[in-house]
Amino acid sequence: MVYRILLVEDEDHLRSTIRLNLEMEGYHVTEAHDGKIAFNQFRTAHFDLIILDVMLPEMDGYTLCQKIRLENTQVPVIFLTAKGASDERVQGLKLGADDYLSKPFNLEELLLRVTSLIRRGGKSSEERSEINTCRFGKCEINFLTFDVIGTDGTKRSLPKREIQLLKLLIERKNEVVSREDILKNVWEYDVYPSTRTIDNYIVNFRKYFEKNPREPKHFFSVRGVGYKFSE
Ligand code: CA
Repeated sequence: MVYRILLVEDEDHLRSTIRLNLEMEGYHVTEAHDGKIAFNQFRTAHFDLIILDVMLPEMDGYTLCQKIRLENTQVPVIFLTAKGASDERVQGLKLGADDYLSKPFNLEELLLRVTSLIRRGGKSSEERSEINTCRFGKCEINFLTFDVIGTDGTKRSLPKREIQLLKLLIERKNEVVSREDILKNVWEYDVYPSTRTIDNYIVNFRKYFEKNPREPKHFFSVRGVGYKFSE
């Protein structure tokens, strides 16, 4: 799993140095050089952590953090504060930041804090995604290799997104999973698929895993609500 970080910093040199170091650690980094751009990026993609400078053009880091927290109370936020400005730290923590670093900071320290916050934040999703394989009837799904065996014994390799959607539905067996949850977990807000797109995935699942795709026993659409898997 590649963790995604939103890096908001208007000093070009500092931003590229941090980015480079995060990328060397294997993180996927999205950059923003002002608060407004950062907020738009936050709304259109999923991030596992946000690094936020306080003094920013267009919208300062405090305002941005407040707006982020109104929509997402979970994502870890690290503030980069000006040297010695203890007021800034207090203010940042009050607004829902998880940690702060005073400039100039040691990059090694930033990386350590990023790792520790991402681990803390990512724990619940890791716990949820512990299943690696699933069997129901004659069907088999391997979530690690993406290989599946259909109800007629046919083996196939599925695209990543089909596997992710299968996994989500199977992890929440017998529950209706909302379209919004599917967007958040499978598409990560990269693009907004229409209901029809998700329907097409379900049609595929029925082809692979249902004896009679017209009378599904495993994959159900609940109109206007979401989708459900039953064993
Ligand atoms: Ca700044």
